[in-house]
Amino acid sequence: MRRASCGRSSTEARGERVPLSEFALIERYFRSGGARRRDVILGVGDDAALLATPSGCDLVAATDTLVAGVHFPLGSPPASIGHRALAVNLSDLAAMGGRPAWALLALTIPEADEAWLGEFAAGFAALARAHEVALVGGDTTRGPLCVTVQLLGHVPHGTALTRSGGCAGDALFVSGTPGDAAAGLAVEQGRLAAQAEARAYLRERFLLPTPRLALGERLRGHASACIDVSDGLLADAGKLAAASAVGAELAYDAVPLSQPLLAALGEERARELAFTGGDDYELCFAVHPQDVAGLLTELPPQRWGYTRIGVLRAGAGFAVVRAGTVMEFSHSGYEHFT
Ligand code: ADP
Ligand code: MG
Repeated sequence: MRRASCGRSSTEARGERVPLSEFALIERYFRSGGARRRDVILGVGDDAALLATPSGCDLVAATDTLVAGVHFPLGSPPASIGHRALAVNLSDLAAMGGRPAWALLALTIPEADEAWLGEFAAGFAALARAHEVALVGGDTTRGPLCVTVQLLGHVPHGTALTRSGGCAGDALFVSGTPGDAAAGLAVEQGRLAAQAEARAYLRERFLLPTPRLALGERLRGHASACIDVSDGLLADAGKLAAASAVGAELAYDAVPLSQPLLAALGEERARELAFTGGDDYELCFAVHPQDVAGLLTELPPQRWGYTRIGVLRAGAGFAVVRAGTVMEFSHSGYEHFT
């Protein structure tokens, strides 16, 4: 897309783009920036990508933007920015039970810094290849650092997971150990001190999150509803419950905590972050009571890394139950753990 020149000279209008070697830059860093796929008829280089869509499948599409200073600290490692820009979208597809296939990358950069671009592209490409995602197009412009990825994938027709399929009585689960990424961001920003080992683990959980694609795909046919945890467990479990027109009750002690999080924060503050911290990109999902046994057998929780944390219930509202005491929360998040 070319910016409207709005009365400026054409030179000035061209100056809005990364000027010197936009073509070379795309060729060098993004021409083969992911997996090779047979279903890419035309990828980077033409006016648009041409993709062969599989029959019998629904197309799943997601897009997310990372803005410097908002979604990641200024000066973040470029490989982390490339990884996260794709990971947040992969996580959205995981939550739908989808299999990713093609990505488009809209990159706005203040300057064509080769070292930065090399690391950014490598971080993006490594995760793309790991999930067999081809980079099939994008856009490159000059401006304050901002990365938008659009991700397309597919799911067998009619089988996608949604937020809205939960029912009162469904068991609620979460994958991984929420709170780690928020602690990692605090470490990254120098707000949290910890032993070197814990620091490294937590930092990596923020900088290089692991989208749960294999779990998401396997949850098709087991889960009644699913959401990825990007804004915090309470906020996102609340969104799942609201979309399913039910309330939810979580067991305070059931939410799993990682050892590094416990070591860095102690149990009370660790639990607070597990409920309210964002950026984990885990999956929170509901399962009808009659389907729980099948889930536990086919996807053993120890192997797949998920934990039962509560139940959906009739009515609205969100409660966290601790030692028989009910703590009421609004859907917007955490209120009572100060
Ligand atoms: P146009 O002006 O037609 O949009 P561009 O010069 O923006 O063309 O892009 C040329 C080609 O390079 C297109 O195929 C586009 O999809 C691709 N492209 C541009 N920037 C990126 C990027 N950051 N990552 C991947 N592909 C890109
Ligand atoms: Mg373009």
